[in-house]
Amino acid sequence: MFNRSRRNLAHWFTLSMGSILILFAGVVYYQRAVDCLEVTDRLLYRKTGVMAANIDYRSEQGQEVVDLSNVPILGNYAPPVGSNLVYARWYSATGTLRQFYGMQPPEQLQYTAVFETLRPNAVSDNAQDTAQWLRQLTLPVTHNGRRLGYLQVAVPLTEARADLHELLRVLLLAVPLTLGGIGLVGWCLSGLAMRPIRESYNQLQRFTSDASHELRAPLAAILSNAQVGLLSPIEAGQPKHLRLEKIAAAAKSMNTLVSDLLFLARQAGRLDPTSLQPVNLNGLLKDTIVTAPVQLAAQHLTLHLALPDEPILIHGNADLLRQALTNLLINACKYTQAGGTVWLRLIGQYHRTVIQVEDTGIGIPASDLPHIFERFYRVDEERTRETGGSGLGLAIAQQIVEAHGGRLTATSIVGEGSLFQIELPLL
Ligand code: ADP
Repeated sequence: MFNRSRRNLAHWFTLSMGSILILFAGVVYYQRAVDCLEVTDRLLYRKTGVMAANIDYRSEQGQEVVDLSNVPILGNYAPPVGSNLVYARWYSATGTLRQFYGMQPPEQLQYTAVFETLRPNAVSDNAQDTAQWLRQLTLPVTHNGRRLGYLQVAVPLTEARADLHELLRVLLLAVPLTLGGIGLVGWCLSGLAMRPIRESYNQLQRFTSDASHELRAPLAAILSNAQVGLLSPIEAGQPKHLRLEKIAAAAKSMNTLVSDLLFLARQAGRLDPTSLQPVNLNGLLKDTIVTAPVQLAAQHLTLHLALPDEPILIHGNADLLRQALTNLLINACKYTQAGGTVWLRLIGQYHRTVIQVEDTGIGIPASDLPHIFERFYRVDEERTRETGGSGLGLAIAQQIVEAHGGRLTATSIVGEGSLFQIELPLL
């Protein structure tokens, strides 16, 4: 139970911290991408601005002429060494191509957004040209409020992308490593958090165990005194005799209750693997069904036992398993009217073994089913008063089954009967 809670705590801690970490890594990556783009855009704008500043505009014989001869790259000058422009284009005010440098452009201006990122295949059909991502600036050039044309320039995004790839590589390495670290810290922290809970639980267990143990001695004394009193020559039916009988019955039921509590307090958690022995379940079921308490409870019923031909072996504690089975069988008999039937079945399956206790009894309402394994839970006081019982039988059975690494489940239909099923791992 504690290990499961510790695992859950560590799990949730890792999950929440991990989500924050991944979110943070995402924000860092996004911010870096935005920064890279900003740097590229600034550079691109500066270069395009220098080119635009060198465009001349004059009127020749009534005609307006745009002179690009002084424009770096597009004009008569060779592109400066170290210039990383992929292309530069000049389009007229109507969007028709006039001059270009670099890869073959479309005749008509296509992109009018100022800044644009072009995917490799959006640039050209030529495979060689398409190998890189580009950042393109289309700058409208005006003179005295009149539009002269458009200057379109592009630079590669290779450096920015390499930068981002590097960051991604670092993040992909750092995030899982940090997550592992967080998981480890979570495990240690949840261990620390569980310590006081475990201590107070152990204290409670010790208290229940000690109290039950201390109660046993005076109870045994009351019971034996009452029984001795019953042996002395007082006539049956006399008030004194009846009182003694009542004292003996109360002491007996308190004795059972105290023994049950003691059992629950002592038998917590998984069984020590060294205390487990191979148990032949076929033999165990046969033995259990003929024990005196079961036979007494099944007096007015038909009790069926169904065993497989092959013996089924598990690792377990035979006494504890017998106790769990007895509790289920006595319940089945207790809550089944005279003339009813109770089945005890053993079924071997591929990876587990199943023991079923089924009856044709009064059944359990669906609203009570989830609670019947709780300590001291009784379906209704009315039926318990008739049958007796402290509400610990199923809690004990469940504790034993879980101590063996198994599972105890119940299904029931009111008025038709109940089926209790024990699933145990195989040897
Ligand atoms: P008790 O000792 O009171 O029988 P248990 O823990 O064994 O306590 O059972 C809890 C409750 O579950 C009982 O009060 C009873 O009403 C119900 N119950 C258990 N087994 C059966 C069954 N086979 N058929 C009907 N009701 C059952």
